[in-house]
Amino acid sequence: MRIKLENLKKTYAGAGGTVTAVNDISLDIPENQIFGIIGKSGAGKSSLVRLISLLETPDEGAVYYNDDRVDNLSKKDLIMRRRKLGMIFQNFNLFTSRTAAKNIAYPMEICGFPKEEIDSRVNEMLALVGLEDRGDAPVSTLSGGQKQRIAIARALSTRPDILFCDEATSALDPQTTRSILSLIREIQKKMNLTVVMITHQMEVVRDACDQVAVVDAGKVVEQGKVSEIFSAPKSAVTKDFLSHLAPETSGKDAEEFACWSKEGGEYALYFEGKKTGEPVLSRLAKKFDIEFNIRAGGISHLAEGEVGKMLVDFIGTREEIEKAVAYLKENGVRVEEEK
Ligand code: ADP
Repeated sequence: MRIKLENLKKTYAGAGGTVTAVNDISLDIPENQIFGIIGKSGAGKSSLVRLISLLETPDEGAVYYNDDRVDNLSKKDLIMRRRKLGMIFQNFNLFTSRTAAKNIAYPMEICGFPKEEIDSRVNEMLALVGLEDRGDAPVSTLSGGQKQRIAIARALSTRPDILFCDEATSALDPQTTRSILSLIREIQKKMNLTVVMITHQMEVVRDACDQVAVVDAGKVVEQGKVSEIFSAPKSAVTKDFLSHLAPETSGKDAEEFACWSKEGGEYALYFEGKKTGEPVLSRLAKKFDIEFNIRAGGISHLAEGEVGKMLVDFIGTREEIEKAVAYLKENGVRVEEEK
């Protein structure tokens, strides 16, 4: 299902006057892809997704699914159309007192599916999300990642043609986030779904999306293929998002990338605050009889300031390396031996 947004506008009346949450947004969202919409808090993402998913009507503009205009449907047609849309949210929105299977069955019950079809579809959906043995588990006993898997199974039970993911991984830890994103990618391919993924995290765009639109102050400031946006960002907002991306100095990709040196001892060095700018390593090489290879490095911008992480090999005698490590520690660099 292709989605076309034409000059969408939505204004809300707030305490301090009116806010134009969506300010003349036009977008083409291709079918059978994962399309990201990224923006900071207050950028207008949720307002935009409420318009695309037909939860609200725009003040101006139009929404098309393929060639059908859908923002001005009659109430009855709107209800039928909305049944073919799946949604998952940050806080899962599951019935915690129901079992996993009963949650998945719920939208099919509302749509009046026959009981046998519901039962077989529930099992099919449980298998799809890798939880075939957890159907009878009350939702309250499941982990966050498992809850989101059940929410995905529920969203897809009625065979929707569009899946909306609204900050779907924001409440999950990085590892669970990765597993949920790879599940969504897998399902998208298997079911030929159009997925619209709303997020404030560039990691989510990097790991899951084919294309992305960057939204700021109710407008699209940049859009394109994820690979293009990452290699040549144009807007200041996009550059800012990319600068906050955690460096991949751990994990499989970083290990492959950094795997060019096998000599010597491997160390992770953490530079905090002002120390990120000091030439500690070059001083180290002058002071001690060691050489070093830099394997990977980057800076994370944290709430408390900047932390630089660098993976290095120190090559030299054990004694010299120990002296060098002690020197680094004296200079406020945290040192961890990796191997
Ligand atoms: P995001 O999802 O990117 O954080 P939102 O779409 O929630 O952004 O909000 C965009 C702007 O619109 C904000 O200034 C917000 O306060 C305002 N807004 C959103 N929804 C409403 C509403 N229902 N009533 C009043 N103001 C709203």
